[in-house]
Amino acid sequence: MNIYEQTKFIMKKYGISANKSLGQNFLIDDEVISKIVESANISNEDLVIEIGPGLGTLTNELLKKAKKVIAIELDERMIEILEDRFSLYNNIEIINNDVLKVNLNELIKKEKQEIGVKEVKIVANLPYYITTPIIMKLLEEKGDFESITVMIQKEVADRLCDIPGGKLSGAITYTVYYYAEAEEVLKVPHTSFIPQPEVDSEVINLKIRKEPPVKVKDNEKLFKIIKYAFMQRRKTLINALSQCDLFNSKEEIRSILENLGISEKIRGEALTLQDFADIANHG
Ligand code: SAM
Repeated sequence: MNIYEQTKFIMKKYGISANKSLGQNFLIDDEVISKIVESANISNEDLVIEIGPGLGTLTNELLKKAKKVIAIELDERMIEILEDRFSLYNNIEIINNDVLKVNLNELIKKEKQEIGVKEVKIVANLPYYITTPIIMKLLEEKGDFESITVMIQKEVADRLCDIPGGKLSGAITYTVYYYAEAEEVLKVPHTSFIPQPEVDSEVINLKIRKEPPVKVKDNEKLFKIIKYAFMQRRKTLINALSQCDLFNSKEEIRSILENLGISEKIRGEALTLQDFADIANHG
């Protein structure tokens, strides 16, 4: 049975139809699955955390490589399938919860103490309706993991992997760049899933940096400034930042920009991460 037939078989056996509101698009392409696993670079000493295992297609391959897989799935219907399918494995833990509510650092700490793992890798074919909140959670909680290998919507991948200030970049590009080195791994057509999503997808790999590329005293301040600069990206930086409560007046912003030699007519999208860091560190 190939993966397409296997997926159809499991769905029929358990009477499953995909729940669109949970972003359920199941992978049916062997080559794509191999490529995800290959680019996640998993060793038999590693812990893998899989987000949204669904019917377990990707999980099946991750289990062959990793020391242990923790699979976090929101849909209760999938839990029975995963428990049946992997009942003979002793290196899987299935958690029925919303990944946004799970304390990943606690899970990782426990595994490191109990079974001792070398590296921790996040792998997922993400539900597209919450791609950004999941990626932001993973980055901002500064999880104790080495990499994030995920399938996401192509358009979002382009934005996340652009360089800060690039044509496709937005506030999130700067955040991703601050925490990780992003690489586009593989474009995936919508025919690689059932049901087929309306958009094309892409696998990306985020390698978490040991040190951020810029030094800031307060990174929350940095991200707030970037957020305001991009909230109204047609406005000049000085006008966009005057909406932000970190600054008392337009005059204050003008003087900061002048001190840093940044033109007050510039738009946020023309600034480098270092420029934003300089503004955040000022004063
Ligand atoms: N990994 C499977 C595959 O590749 O065929 C399924 C991927 S599907 C795109 C996304 C999965 O994420 C679904 O199984 C869905 O139920 C699950 N999911 C959706 N929202 C979630 C959440 N907040 N937390 C955990 N899992 C979630």
